[in-house]
Amino acid sequence: MPDGGIVLFGGSFNPIHNGHLIVARAAAERLRVSRVVFVPSPSPPHKTGTGLADAADRLAMVRLAIAGEPLFDCSDIETRRAGPSYTILTVEDYRRTQADRELFWLIGADSLADLHSWHRVAELVDACRIVTAARPGFETPDLSSLERVLRPEHVRRIEADILPTPRIDISATEIRRRVAEGRSIRYLLPEPVADYLVRRGLYRGFSPDPNQACPRSRPCG
Ligand code: ATP
Repeated sequence: MPDGGIVLFGGSFNPIHNGHLIVARAAAERLRVSRVVFVPSPSPPHKTGTGLADAADRLAMVRLAIAGEPLFDCSDIETRRAGPSYTILTVEDYRRTQADRELFWLIGADSLADLHSWHRVAELVDACRIVTAARPGFETPDLSSLERVLRPEHVRRIEADILPTPRIDISATEIRRRVAEGRSIRYLLPEPVADYLVRRGLYRGFSPDPNQACPRSRPCG
């Protein structure tokens, strides 16, 4: 693959799972880039009350998941940042240090519904290409909320950048739930990550709070 651009892949990674890894590789192939950087966020504003593990643990799990994979890298740029960690700040940092490379910000199709509420979203879509990975249950994304905050050509570009990546029906919520219920998480995430979270006792007390608003409906980014 030519060494053109960089795919930045942000998320809570609570924990990282094979869905993340598979779509990240597929997106890199589609976009013909040779570097995907996983960027764990410290405490995403839309993920309160969801059994969020410490940033240090989530970062450690990402590092274990990508160990030995030359395509993948991990950055602690957001977990080191003081104050709120917005995607636009991370993209601006990369713009400064990697000025000659095309930047992509990868999201799953479920995140498209939130994108309109991301901090300084119009500047974000100017500063990088938002590329979207397919996700089961989110086959026909509704872009009308984006039309209210972005120029039509930007919405068209986001739509054109929805990638035909494999549909992998794995979520971190499901993994946390299975851990809490003592069920197997085998094959859903890399073994070293599963070993780590068991050793650290993560997610054992996880119980999704039915009174919480849908995490995906909260402003984020
Ligand atoms: P949770 O279940 O806790 O909400 P998650 O599985 O969605 O977590 P995140 O770390 O929140 O994982 O996701 C980071 C990014 O990866 C988001 O843009 C999300 O849409 C995307 N993503 C996560 N899982 C998948 C998947 N199976 N297929 C495609 N995209 C995914």
